[in-house]
Amino acid sequence: MKTNRTFTMIKPDAVANGHIGAILDHITKAGFKIVALKYTALSAQKAGEFYAVHSERGFYADLVNFMSSGPIVAAILEKDNAIADFRTLIGATDPTKADAGTIRNLFAKSIEANAVHGSDSDENADIEGSFFFSAFERF
Ligand code: ATP
Ligand code: MG
Repeated sequence: MKTNRTFTMIKPDAVANGHIGAILDHITKAGFKIVALKYTALSAQKAGEFYAVHSERGFYADLVNFMSSGPIVAAILEKDNAIADFRTLIGATDPTKADAGTIRNLFAKSIEANAVHGSDSDENADIEGSFFFSAFERF
């Protein structure tokens, strides 16, 4: 089912480096409407649940550590073709391979500390949005 919604997090590196405002500005200027927004933090347990799909990967323990290392901003975003357009806006997972002008190209430090998360499918966007937000927190 196509929802025209995606889910994002501004990751601990970008929050710590003072990029919340600039990244939200990029997102809204690209035509995404903010449906839900929250400044929060993931415990190690919650970060492990969120990235459970990667639990067999060598980088999983480091990823969980990193994602629970400080506050994050979680958001649900809406736009036509939201999943694909947001993946284009953020750029490749590895910021050295991200196109010029993408959020990861501008703000990410490494393949792990890569500034933002973006859902990879409508189904996962729905699961991930519901991980953070109740129906009363979506507008
Ligand atoms: P995200 O799901 O956070 O939007 P992505 O979809 O671009 O990122 P995934 O393959 O889903 O990339 O990996 C999830 C996250 O795990 C990456 O964003 C990055 O923080 C981390 N990661 C991925 N590959 C590596 C790696 N080779 N070494 C270290 N960390 C990695
Ligand atoms: Mg992913």
